[in-house]
Amino acid sequence: MNKKDDFITQITKRSEDFSRWYVDVIRRAELADYSPMKGVMVIRPYGYEIWELMKEQLDRMFKATGHRNAYFPLFIPESFLKKEAEHVEGFAPEVAWVTMGGNEVLEERYAIRPTSEAIICSMYARWISSWRDLPVLINQWANVVRWEKVTRPFLRTTEFLWQEGHTVHATAAEAQEETLRILEVYRTFAEEYLALPVIAGLKTDAEKFAGAVSTYCIEALMPDGRALQAGTSHNLGQNFSRAFNIRFENRDQELEFGWGTSWGVSTRLVGAVIMAHGDDSGLIIPPRVAPFQAVIIPISRGDWKETVLPEATMLQQELQAAGIRVHLDDRDTNTPGWKFSEWEMRGVPLRVEIGPKDIEKKQVVLVNRLNREKSFVSRENCVAEIGRKLDEIQAMLFERALRFRQENTRDAADSDSLADIIEKQRGLVRAAWCGSADCEARVKEKTKATIRVILEETPPSGAACAACGKPGKHMVLFARSY
Ligand SMILES: [Zn+2]
Repeated sequence: MNKKDDFITQITKRSEDFSRWYVDVIRRAELADYSPMKGVMVIRPYGYEIWELMKEQLDRMFKATGHRNAYFPLFIPESFLKKEAEHVEGFAPEVAWVTMGGNEVLEERYAIRPTSEAIICSMYARWISSWRDLPVLINQWANVVRWEKVTRPFLRTTEFLWQEGHTVHATAAEAQEETLRILEVYRTFAEEYLALPVIAGLKTDAEKFAGAVSTYCIEALMPDGRALQAGTSHNLGQNFSRAFNIRFENRDQELEFGWGTSWGVSTRLVGAVIMAHGDDSGLIIPPRVAPFQAVIIPISRGDWKETVLPEATMLQQELQAAGIRVHLDDRDTNTPGWKFSEWEMRGVPLRVEIGPKDIEKKQVVLVNRLNREKSFVSRENCVAEIGRKLDEIQAMLFERALRFRQENTRDAADSDSLADIIEKQRGLVRAAWCGSADCEARVKEKTKATIRVILEETPPSGAACAACGKPGKHMVLFARSY
């Protein structure tokens, strides 16, 4: 018996236990594994390839909006981290410190970057002196470390991979424009590439980045009714420029502090894709970020190696030439049926079957991973048809996730109904909020739900804060979150 024969039965049903399903599917699909160090994961090739595809696309989008990549050190001297008071206070509980160099105790401790504002701003202070040096638009792809107590693969790990953009501008308006430009890049990327509908908007002060003037985010709703923050874009105002002395001579020849932004998304997006689209049989990876968009499975009967395999190989080459990421599973150690289940579990969006009968009929069989619909297409047109099917699956995944979010967004008029919805149905709860941090904290204490995002819409007249009953200033979305 092949040790993988019970592959599928080893996955807990998603409908029965969502969080166990999540961990099971990551391990069985070989996306990631636990490492010898608690809270730190190993990203295996199949998981890393998803991240690489995300990274390549985002990188193109950053470059198209004028950004360039650079690399800054992993270590941040403690004195640098302390320069921005709110920043250090926010990150202190989760910083990992280097205190020894070889056998010697260091005079000053070094933080392993939890984020790189401190080190990057210290360099910007050297590089920026005139309005002619602005804007500075730099992104870095890197790892960061945040000492987490409770971890989950991809969603929250002590070390993770991300990108962090850090920019400086000559005016407050330009910095705000940049903050929103990146928010829009993130929204577009999440929706068009990850098939993940998101709500883009402002965070409350309680939820904003430590040291920022304002934080914008994209929030997605996961199938277990919890929200996931999928990316953030911060307007830093002059906070970090003041702390790190980033000054420039403006057009009126006066010295002024620069206006900053920072923004990031991480490998958490891989977790979002796993959760948002999978089912009881395993993963469903959106075609645009799938390491294999299609898998060809030759039906192994009789002399298939002489008849079916050459045809399958030719099809593989045609698909590759058309820019489709395709895998040909030509192993003779497993039956076609076993391969069907395995690649379903691994979330390949489209299966292409080809057997002796199909060759006779000059056709191939396509199977959609999402609805398992079979279609028979002529061998002649199948490359174009496979491309079309992949677009269709990408769109179907987005539509399904959007419908789920719409069905799980509810209104609450007061504190009791808010608590009731969060307790019994989860999902997103739209409510009015008076703007007070106390009200926000009270709701959190009572329901474990936080304000995920402040919506752009203005509250209807007479709408009362769902916590205190006073007039509502904003419409917000409450949810429990990852
Ligand atoms: Zn209130």
